Amino acid sequence: MVSRILLIYTGGTIGMIRSDEGYVPTKGFESLLRQRLEAAMPSDNFEFDYVEFEELIDSANIQPYHWTALAELIRHNYRNYAGFVVLHGTDTMAFTASALSFMLRGLDKPVILTGSQIPLTELRNDAKDNLITAMLLARDYPIHEVCLYFNGRLMRGNRTTKANATGFEAFDSPNFPDLGQVGIDIHLQQQPLPPTRQMLSAPLFEPHAVVALKLFPGISADFVSRVLADARIRAFVMSSFGVGNMPHQNKALVAALTDASQRGVVIVNITQCMRGRVSQETYATGRVLHDAGVVSGADMTFEAAFTKLHVLLAETPHPEQVRQQVAQNLCGELSLPH
Ligand code: ASP
Repeated sequence: MVSRILLIYTGGTIGMIRSDEGYVPTKGFESLLRQRLEAAMPSDNFEFDYVEFEELIDSANIQPYHWTALAELIRHNYRNYAGFVVLHGTDTMAFTASALSFMLRGLDKPVILTGSQIPLTELRNDAKDNLITAMLLARDYPIHEVCLYFNGRLMRGNRTTKANATGFEAFDSPNFPDLGQVGIDIHLQQQPLPPTRQMLSAPLFEPHAVVALKLFPGISADFVSRVLADARIRAFVMSSFGVGNMPHQNKALVAALTDASQRGVVIVNITQCMRGRVSQETYATGRVLHDAGVVSGADMTFEAAFTKLHVLLAETPHPEQVRQQVAQNLCGELSLPH
């Protein structure tokens, strides 16, 4: 049994230092990290290896090819480690956690993303606890999925969203219970995943294939048509009002969505609300979307819908198959209605 874990630093506040331009990530975070860990866990003899991205990024710069690189790194090292901890900036951590969950379906060991709101170099920080707890969870606990650990909460990765820009409780899992709470003791809850064969894949993504926008009062058909006219676009995540409603009196907008859908653009409807789910059958303002071929995104987060579409488009060129799959619960990212 291997008990060594692999720590992957991608960039982000946790390993940043102050510079004239503000906080920036720096190469060589490993030595500081080992120093701090040795001071914190002298007797534990924690065995881990460390790799960092060639180019460390503020996660605001994340791109789909970074997800491929991360999945490839984990896939390549999968057998050699008990678990993986990915240190990542908080801004887009929920996107990366979601993307990895779809690429690493059927995991049988933990992949845990974490980071911090204050760098490890600062005297007062949330980095140390997030780091150490994520490492212990990855080494010692029976977790079989991609999770995000932050501020005492272990959450299913593809259910998370960044909910607080400045507080230590940066993440929330609005539509799904936490997988674990960390206080004096660590308590894990069983939240079963749908059965799936193991498929650790690192697809190449088309970076411009998925776009997104939020409906807003006064949105014009013209604006939406111009966005969707780009031939590279294969899927569109539309954040709608309430349980999945749109301004249906705008017939030109309905026509623009119907037209895009008929051209093979997969349109997924998610709610702008923080909690709850899309139900396109409830109101006439949602029914038109169903009739236009728009797929309900149920209770998926924006991050899950967006990254799921990237992964599905990389798996099949057929829009109908993507529509069918996007509505399924592939790895715990959505709840089907009872
Ligand atoms: N801008 C930073 C990043 O996402 C914020 C953080 O890490 O907390 O990389």
